[in-house]
Amino acid sequence: MQVTLKQLTKQFPSFHKKKNEFVTAVHDFNLTLPDGKLIGLLGPSGCGKSTLLNLISGLETASSGSIFFGEEDVTNLPPQNRGVGLVFQNYALYPHLTVEENIVFPLGNLRGKDKLTKEQMHQRALEVARFVQIEELLDRKPANMSGGQQQRVAIARALVKMPRLLLLDEPLSNLDARLRLQTREEIRRIQKQTGVTTIFVTHDQEEAMSICDQIVVMKKGQLHQTGKPQQVYDDPTNLFVAQFLGTPQINVFEGQIKQGKLFVGSDILLTDIFDVQDQAVTVAIRPEGFVPDPKGPMHATLERVEVMGRDTSLICKHPACCSESFRSIVTDSLAAWGTWDEEKSQGVSLCFSIKPSKLFVFAKTNQQERIRLTGK
Ligand code: ATP
Repeated sequence: MQVTLKQLTKQFPSFHKKKNEFVTAVHDFNLTLPDGKLIGLLGPSGCGKSTLLNLISGLETASSGSIFFGEEDVTNLPPQNRGVGLVFQNYALYPHLTVEENIVFPLGNLRGKDKLTKEQMHQRALEVARFVQIEELLDRKPANMSGGQQQRVAIARALVKMPRLLLLDEPLSNLDARLRLQTREEIRRIQKQTGVTTIFVTHDQEEAMSICDQIVVMKKGQLHQTGKPQQVYDDPTNLFVAQFLGTPQINVFEGQIKQGKLFVGSDILLTDIFDVQDQAVTVAIRPEGFVPDPKGPMHATLERVEVMGRDTSLICKHPACCSESFRSIVTDSLAAWGTWDEEKSQGVSLCFSIKPSKLFVFAKTNQQERIRLTGK
């Protein structure tokens, strides 16, 4: 089911009773979400992710704008008529019911021609339980199951009415790290097998990037960028998006465009820049964009070396860096760089060349939009 949001806005009354103010949780959202895909709504706490999901499910009503499922305008349709399955962070299973009774619970509300017999309900429960691989647990009570299993029951319950759309609000937050990883793969598998358009809310960019077909990055109720995860990572539209995606975070420097050259401090990182006025800019470089190179244009001072599994990180200082230090991740083993003895290495001067595709330049405006450069 394709979902289209047109100028969708949601305002809540502010808690200042005397002041007639509003909190705009979702602001003028225009977005089309493709059919049959897994879509991640992503952004920092309070950016409006849950509100947007609740608008789509019908649990919240829009202040203005409209919502379409395919060609159908569902803006004023009550939630029970939207054909949406919902899964929340706290699985909200009924503790006194068995897994099967929990799963078939939504089917009990069906009336008229849709009403199912007990046997039909059992068959449906079995079918979705197989999908989420809990068929051997149908007689258990939720208290006797792990968090991951409970979350699967919640997904089965959301799927049992064969929804047009599956909405998951932070479904992995209550799980420990290992189970989180496993369950997110499960969500991916279930979505692929059912083909149900699924919208997944998370504040964890790594989670969204690893399983989603498309991500929607939000901040303060506004849509900042949407696209395939790698595409957004490789081509961020503004500094917020560049900083929000990627672990470790992108490194940020004060820069200057002057007479066709990009300066970071006194280092010239790019030359032959055309059609861009001289101005102060923000320069962001991904950790994997630094290549130690004695002839490289960026001069830094090594603080320390961190070796973690496959990665070797060089933590360095640079006078134009916006934080205490910056982090480069180098692929070569330490051996290739001689012995980076902790004591000997501190304070050593290092030069880097920069991979052009990992360097982004942003304007010093409110939105800190990307400045696209053509340079060497
Ligand atoms: P989190 O990741 O912390 O759950 P979120 O991105 O899901 O956050 P929302 O819960 O959608 O964000 O909230 C968006 C904004 O709307 C916040 O400023 C929040 O305080 C406000 N808000 C949400 N619900 C209400 C409400 N019922 N009344 C007033 N303000 C609300």
